Amino acid sequence: MRVSRLMLVTLRDDPAEAEIPSHKLLLRAGYIRRLSSGIYAYLPLLWRVLQKISAIVRQEMDATGALETLLPQLQPAELWERSGRWAGYTAGEGIMFHLTDRQGRELGLGPTHEEVITTLAADLLRSYRQLPVNLYQIQTKFRDEIRPRFGLMRGREFIMKDAYSFHGDENSLKQTYAAMDLAYRRIFERCGLRTVAVEADSGAIGGSASQEFMVTAEAGEDLILASADGRYAANQERAVSLPPEALPLPAGARAGGIGEPLSTPGQTTIEQLCGAHGFEASQLVKVLLLLARFADGQVQPLLISLRGDQQLNAVKLANAVAARLTPAHGALLAIDPLTAELVRSEQLRLDLRGIPFGYLGPDLDDAVLANTPGAMGLERSESPGGAPGDGGAINPAGVRLIRSFLRLADATAVDLAAFVCGANAVDGHRVGASWPGLGLRPEPLDLRTAQSGDRCLDDPDQCLQAARGIEVGHIFQLGRKYSEALGARFTNESGVEEALWMGCYGIGVSRLAQAAVEQHHDRDGICWPVAIAPFEVIVVIANTQEQAQVELAEALYNELSAAGVEVLLDDRSERAGVKFKDADLIGIPWRVVVGRGAATGQVELVRRAGSEKLELPASAVRARLETELSRGRRLVNGPMTHP
Ligand code: ATP
Ligand code: MG
Repeated sequence: MRVSRLMLVTLRDDPAEAEIPSHKLLLRAGYIRRLSSGIYAYLPLLWRVLQKISAIVRQEMDATGALETLLPQLQPAELWERSGRWAGYTAGEGIMFHLTDRQGRELGLGPTHEEVITTLAADLLRSYRQLPVNLYQIQTKFRDEIRPRFGLMRGREFIMKDAYSFHGDENSLKQTYAAMDLAYRRIFERCGLRTVAVEADSGAIGGSASQEFMVTAEAGEDLILASADGRYAANQERAVSLPPEALPLPAGARAGGIGEPLSTPGQTTIEQLCGAHGFEASQLVKVLLLLARFADGQVQPLLISLRGDQQLNAVKLANAVAARLTPAHGALLAIDPLTAELVRSEQLRLDLRGIPFGYLGPDLDDAVLANTPGAMGLERSESPGGAPGDGGAINPAGVRLIRSFLRLADATAVDLAAFVCGANAVDGHRVGASWPGLGLRPEPLDLRTAQSGDRCLDDPDQCLQAARGIEVGHIFQLGRKYSEALGARFTNESGVEEALWMGCYGIGVSRLAQAAVEQHHDRDGICWPVAIAPFEVIVVIANTQEQAQVELAEALYNELSAAGVEVLLDDRSERAGVKFKDADLIGIPWRVVVGRGAATGQVELVRRAGSEKLELPASAVRARLETELSRGRRLVNGPMTHP
């Protein structure tokens, strides 16, 4: 390939649209162009990178016995309604692009393919004799991300490898899950990436065990917490830890029961309260008020108690709320903090003036929810959402508020024998309150966010350390959630029908390409790992006016190409300096410079990473490069055999 034919436009300066190094470099070096928010054209150089990554993925998937397939991207809403995900993916987080066709039927553009593949399995799999099977595809996925950013890292249209396995029992699922775990490690290693495998939340996909593969990089959107010995590693969304010890309240301050009143005018934050009275945050119970919105139009107020020095983990909270309430209300669409601003806002129009924000205690009376005077009764007739007399309050937007709190408490708060908390009246707190004293017996839950520095749960001698990561892969043991919902059943060895066991396994192919740049670059540009570089070698003609240089470079280009080396020839009539800068930016692993030495048959060989240089006769270049490239080649050519 000749650079003059490549439509190559490189940029000297960082484009304003890019924030992180890999995004800047892919734009500057002419790998991608942005068409619209989160939508990118993969230019020929990047397409070669994506093809190489895909080839490695295919080899390793095939080696596990998985079969390649290609599934429809237009997916009927009905399938997603049967799995219970249509509302959550459209009205809730709204991540699925969806449309209505000319017949008035609703369709979604595939963000993932559990529904489609399970429908196929229901149709095709009948007997245990057909199991296990594992199908994969490499395909464009669509997700209407709330915040598309960082180029290919979080696109609205991106390339994913997704695989789905079906099994007759859980053991077989676990075996395939383990084989995929191994295959993933090989894929990332062959692509030249340093990754860590971490315990993960299963999110909206559902299921039990799941593990993410993270490329460690400063620009990562995820926070990884890992023990120093690496035996425990988890996404912060999911991580567990031992909380720091709480400081007991001084004996004199213990009242037990409901606690002693303390006047705290204007002290609505933990800092203000501690500052004014000398408390430590771990002596406090803070109470958060949130609203959980469900697919059936109901809104459940949540009253969450946490120890004052702890932070709420939104993912753990959503899981706890969904587990308790989705059977009754359908999908959990969103959880939002109920702030004084939201109460006043036009959108909600709930009159919750009785709620003493900043002074809440865990025993806040449900009556504050019923205490919504004014138009509630009137509005009931305007909204189709609610059946009268069911205890729900309706506002004009059709939101129906359940008039009792779901009270959840983190174990750190439940474990406090005596604590400081709000008095449920403006300008007052209570000192020395206790759970029995407040008439509450909360179940201790894990709702707190584990932090860097916390001790590990299973090895208290180790502390958690934080690192940032880019999620490039995610594997799940789904269990029978989708097969039960979509009727994918088989006849087992005893002749009894049962639901299939299922696993699913994703790799962000386009995200991986950019993550590789995030891990492999320097001041001057990209330094691609050989296995996924768009070309292995770039031959640069220093001066195209010099016939000797042109001839020698062309000869080398032909010789290397014929020998199967992937070579790019920079034949542009630019100044040598410009071409060297571009070569550094584009990041081809090896550069051969044909310059003044051409007259005597001498050229220069430069390794991109590390800039090591060597003068040698042109006649020795091929042998030298073949040796240097063989390591990377070995990785590209042969899949490793699986045990
Ligand atoms: P994230 O938490 O980053 O939003 P996810 O957990 O929703 O990702 P999965 O459903 O597990 O993603 O998808 C499988 C893989 O697809 C991810 O591990 C990631 O590498 C990739 N991926 C997901 N969303 C995007 C996106 N918007 N752009 C690029 N790649 C993505
Ligand atoms: Mg994921």
